[in-house]
Amino acid sequence: MLELRDITAGYEPRTPVVRGVSLTVAAGEAVGLLGPSGCGKSTLARVAALLHRPDGGTVTLDGETVTGWRHRAPRRQRTAYGVLFQQPRLSADPRLRLGELIAEPLRAGGRRAEMADRVGELAPVVGLTDELLRRRPHEVSDGQLQRACLARALVLRPRWLICDEMTAMLDASTTAALVAVVESYRRESGAGLLAVGHDRTLLARWCDRTVRWADLTGAPAACAEAPADR
Ligand code: ADP
Ligand code: ADP
Repeated sequence: MLELRDITAGYEPRTPVVRGVSLTVAAGEAVGLLGPSGCGKSTLARVAALLHRPDGGTVTLDGETVTGWRHRAPRRQRTAYGVLFQQPRLSADPRLRLGELIAEPLRAGGRRAEMADRVGELAPVVGLTDELLRRRPHEVSDGQLQRACLARALVLRPRWLICDEMTAMLDASTTAALVAVVESYRRESGAGLLAVGHDRTLLARWCDRTVRWADLTGAPAACAEAPADR
């Protein structure tokens, strides 16, 4: 179970963008978090993925409350997650090729021997050819880059997936392909999913239940410039 309890978070403590929000995702469950942009959904998703330290409240991951970290959460807990964002981003190092980038979490965990096999297994699943695996990020499309990000997110077989507007930049066919990969991974692994988005129809298609940001916060969803929930 992934449990966010009474989370307060933001970018300067005096003006939190997330205030007292609680949300639970059961093991194996897929929960969609729906709301207009600028409300704090991404911030909450990053708190859930241990990428952003909350100013208050607790994150409990499979029974273990993960608190007390400052700059980075412990690796053992971070690696329970595969995380995807709207903007595909693999590395600050432009020299690395997609295949190397997908394998990066294995390398970082000292599991070099498994790298080639695991990349060879994942590449066809996400629809990347050997030729694409040899290219660098600036030599591929956003869709191909997001396919690589998804492969990298799955490379350590995470128990939890956090997908923050994962498909917002993609065309319909790439969206369908990547959602199908996530669904089949979840079926086979039993991983839980927290998917953030603004498109109700898309979230409803791949989530067991959908939670509206306004219902979580008790506040009217009068956030940014964004149009109301679709
Ligand atoms: P959503 O995912 O619902 O669009 P975000 O969590 O991305 O919302 O943003 C919530 C608020 O926090 C917005 O007002 C946004 O401008 C602000 N914000 C997001 N990231 C940062 C950051 N790195 N530094 C300062 N403010 C930020
Ligand atoms: P900042 O406001 O510090 O620039 P970001 O939203 O860019 O925050 O990133 C916050 C954390 O999430 C960082 O650890 C960053 O590496 C990670 N991150 C953000 N976007 C992506 C992405 N598309 N792919 C991989 N990691 C990302």
